[in-house]
Amino acid sequence: MNQNEIYSIQELFETQKKYSFKQRLTTAEERIGLLQKLKNALPDIYGKVIDALSKDVAKPVFEIQYMELAGLPGIIDGICANLAKWMEAESVTSAMDKTASLEIVPEARGVVLVIGPWNVPFFLAIEPMITALAAGNCVMIKPSELTPYTSHVIAEFIPTVFPPEIVSVVEGGVEETTELLKLPFDHIFFTGSPNVGKIVMAAAAKNLTTVTLELGGKSPVFIDESADMERTAASIMHKKTINGGQICISTDYLLVHKSRENELLAALKKYTEKYYYANGSFNGKDMSHIINRHNYDRLKGLYQDALDKGAHVEFGGVFHDDSIQIEPTVITHVSLDSKIMQEEIFGPLLPVLTYGNLQEAIDYVNTHSKPLALYIYSQDQKNIDKIVAETSSGGVTINDAMLHASDYSLPFGGINGSGMGAYHGVYGFRELSHLKPVYKAGNGPLDETLHPPFAGKVQSRKE
Ligand code: NAD
Repeated sequence: MNQNEIYSIQELFETQKKYSFKQRLTTAEERIGLLQKLKNALPDIYGKVIDALSKDVAKPVFEIQYMELAGLPGIIDGICANLAKWMEAESVTSAMDKTASLEIVPEARGVVLVIGPWNVPFFLAIEPMITALAAGNCVMIKPSELTPYTSHVIAEFIPTVFPPEIVSVVEGGVEETTELLKLPFDHIFFTGSPNVGKIVMAAAAKNLTTVTLELGGKSPVFIDESADMERTAASIMHKKTINGGQICISTDYLLVHKSRENELLAALKKYTEKYYYANGSFNGKDMSHIINRHNYDRLKGLYQDALDKGAHVEFGGVFHDDSIQIEPTVITHVSLDSKIMQEEIFGPLLPVLTYGNLQEAIDYVNTHSKPLALYIYSQDQKNIDKIVAETSSGGVTINDAMLHASDYSLPFGGINGSGMGAYHGVYGFRELSHLKPVYKAGNGPLDETLHPPFAGKVQSRKE
């Protein structure tokens, strides 16, 4: 049963708000119990998720399995193994009074609204929920309306695992999200575009609700004179085309040292042929289509605008209007005024820019919004250190792409234009907790130095 068919959004919120005072007191064992229940239930809906995503975005089943499903049990296990330790109050030594006891107590935030995107619609709705539950919160999930089959699977699945006072699902689009955003949630965890991120943050400000914004942006790729070109090209082409290029940390555009451009283009072509043309023609079954015609037309427009402004097509440039798929496409001689260099591409189009001096490439990145991810392909530690030190981004992977986001020993999130806050592993637990300082005064003699009367306590000012 879809929960918002029996409760209004307001009723669900009030029910959760009341319950959150109980939920925050749950022990590690009780929270682990909830997460284990979810883990045990997940395999029952794998088939439904695969069917739904095949209808929503024609994602290859292999990609559905490894991007949407395979990671969840391990994430739950990682949390369960550490939760008791994370929940412990941390003792701190006082800087003022050695006899005082100081602690930092992780406290649940309360009711967390999770707003999900369409590009990894199951995983990116469920994972923030898991993190919020681990931190002792109640959760309301609003999956993306652009993947309606997957949204519906989530709405039907959640009530089979959790009662509505702990987790509930509200399906819908802008109208429902706007209604939700009026409510005084204790925290909003939003994954989506920077433009909608601004709407979410503005709405949250009205209630002084804290936010985690997991946004997107243009993630640049530096390839210097020393890069191992085979590995570089294989990695870039793979990461540019997973999910049809519709990943927040896709390799958006390349900045290659001009001495290696030809070698890079040849290697990109070689790996594209290996991955997508092994039988001589484009294997569209192994690549998701573009989410909808609107975005397909947007990408076609970016491509055409780049060509109109002088770009050369190195390979690709084939658009399938019927299946709304785009073959992997590499363009060079791209004008910086092209729209493709102004907005997040979110599709398998890859502009290649060249530089002669690394500083120029760094300066170019630094004059734009801080990216969610930044990639460096280099064997030269001096160049690596320089790029890491002189640029700002949500995270960095060196000699590959996306791995800083897959390894849960690291926090994952953006900065300014690409988001704020971070999660994964203990960082997610902390993000969805309030780290409350608790000071228990020492038992030394009462110090009345600062108490009135003040006469005689004011120091004379030196003229
Ligand atoms: P989106 O911003 O269009 O939508 C995200 C959510 O916001 C959806 O649930 C949608 O219903 C809601 N929404 C849309 N318009 C709204 C409005 N006017 N008012 C209130 N709510 C509204 O994003 P998307 O197109 O679903 O996802 C793609 C974007 O998400 C890309 O920019 C991508 O980089 C980013 N993304 C980021 C991450 C990350 O972890 N940082 C992960 C995936 C996607």
